[in-house]
Amino acid sequence: MLYIIATPIGNLEDISFRAIDTLKSVDVILAEDTRHSKKLLSHYGISTPVQSLHEHNEAKKTADLVGSLLSGRGMALISDAGTPLISDPGYVLVREAKKAGVKVSPIPGPSALTSAISASGIASDSFTFYGFLPSKQGARVKAIRAISHSKETVIFYESPKRILASAVDFRSVLGDDRVVCFAKELTKSFETIITATLPDIVDYLESQQDHQRGEFVILISAIDKNSKVKGEEQLDKILPILLSEMGASKASKIAAKITGIDKKYCYQRAIDL
Ligand code: SAM
Repeated sequence: MLYIIATPIGNLEDISFRAIDTLKSVDVILAEDTRHSKKLLSHYGISTPVQSLHEHNEAKKTADLVGSLLSGRGMALISDAGTPLISDPGYVLVREAKKAGVKVSPIPGPSALTSAISASGIASDSFTFYGFLPSKQGARVKAIRAISHSKETVIFYESPKRILASAVDFRSVLGDDRVVCFAKELTKSFETIITATLPDIVDYLESQQDHQRGEFVILISAIDKNSKVKGEEQLDKILPILLSEMGASKASKIAAKITGIDKKYCYQRAIDL
């Protein structure tokens, strides 16, 4: 049996009784960073042997691990924080273990993703999770443009190194009215969950260096029926002109270049006109 066990995202008390019992009873714990996990394991008096499994050795170790599982060894996979496989390693092992007929069972618990949306005040009925935003600005702006017309909540993880730059990029693409939530240091002493417009978020991050420290989840509310992203008024002006000279496909490509709006959205708009 391979157990996938969620561990705390900050507060060490956020772990289930079943998670602790299982971590004590398996033969081996596979941990992303063994030194980091030792803190949690010693807090709960867990002395099970620990092996490392991280993004750099997962592909190489998987075949041996599946062999051990098939020979009857019980294993538990944990990551540094939260739920394994959610922007964390484990996918290759789980895929291969299942292919080989090993039973894989989750022991659920915290994740920054579900914790953030549950306390954000942003619609939670339907959402897309994108993991980490690209670190380079060009790719990041492109990613933000691609979700700018999303009809459901969109969620990202972001590193403190880029949190201000990302907030500024969100503002430049989504404008000043979109409601977003920046959820920081969840379950820790400096937990802060701000649901506001982007100018307010940028002000908050800029007002003190400390405000940019820690771990963040960014939640973007769906586009409002009446709101427009930046460039949309321009799009509505130029599309009819372009369409009088050329087909929808070419017109939408040119309109996307001029306005910076996602090409697919421009095309949809062109055929709706
Ligand atoms: N597996 C984890 C989970 O289930 O949430 C996520 C791991 S991912 C490598 C780490 C990212 O998750 C951080 O950079 C941050 O964006 C987010 N994160 C983790 N802990 C957090 C916390 N306590 N508060 C806010 N965001 C957190």
